[in-house]
Amino acid sequence: MNLPVEIVEMLGQTLAKVVPVTIALALVFSVLAHFWACNPGRPWWRKRELVTDICYWFLVPLFARVFRIGLLVLGAALLFGIRDADALIAFYDNGHGPLSRLPLWLQAILFLVVADFMMYWLHRMFHRGVCWKYHAIHHSSEDVDWISAARFHPVNLLLGTIGVDVVLLMAGISPEVMLWLGPFNIFHSAFVHANLNWTLGPFKYVLATPVFHRWHHTSPAEGGDTNFAGTFPLWDILFGTFRMPQDSLPEQYGVDDQSSFPGEIIGQLAYPFRRSGAVRPPEGRWWRKARTDLPSG
Ligand SMILES: [Zn+2]
Ligand SMILES: [Zn+2]
Repeated sequence: MNLPVEIVEMLGQTLAKVVPVTIALALVFSVLAHFWACNPGRPWWRKRELVTDICYWFLVPLFARVFRIGLLVLGAALLFGIRDADALIAFYDNGHGPLSRLPLWLQAILFLVVADFMMYWLHRMFHRGVCWKYHAIHHSSEDVDWISAARFHPVNLLLGTIGVDVVLLMAGISPEVMLWLGPFNIFHSAFVHANLNWTLGPFKYVLATPVFHRWHHTSPAEGGDTNFAGTFPLWDILFGTFRMPQDSLPEQYGVDDQSSFPGEIIGQLAYPFRRSGAVRPPEGRWWRKARTDLPSG
């Protein structure tokens, strides 16, 4: 088969998966936000920069697929000296080494916990220095909603979700685990961005919720440099960055340079390469500050 045909086929396969999931999520979160909106007002389909978010929503799964395959091939060649296609398939097919011999459910738990731990620190790294220019794209959404979940710069994806997936697959985890975790991750990332006032009561310490992550999307002045965990708030509790104020809900989202921040996808993809892009100071001072005003509940 020739390359253009394969690319078109891959586009088709990805879209065939994304479209039904999108419709289901749209229905679920439209109904839930009608009853339990965190910020009542605009429904998601009237959110600012909706077109931008829709572009990311369909492009990101494509990027992710290409990047994942590329990194898996590159990693196997550079680290394990595997260069031919059959050996490559055999290497990844059912995982390899001691990790792949664990029961699948245990591999899934391990994957969830280790990936989330790595993502927590990568996320913190992306909030500082020049890395912020790439991550600012994700924070540029003023109307945070489930459809904002995919707004990520490709560099952020590569050194985030995709990089972490590839590292764990190279470590030997069976790809079968991803079949179960993939749908959970898609649903959960849409869920934490959804316009919902859900804190899940005492479970706010167990699982990242919409209110937990919406606080993360507020400005640093409002305490937004907190709640970095994707799935388990445990990391934020352990490392002093957990923040869920009692009796108040987050209201304002976006970046400091919002007025000059590009609203469309092309401008956003180019943003990190602009000289004028905002850079943040290193973590030192902020780390001490966050620890001292860590709330108890
Ligand atoms: Zn962030
Ligand atoms: Zn987010």
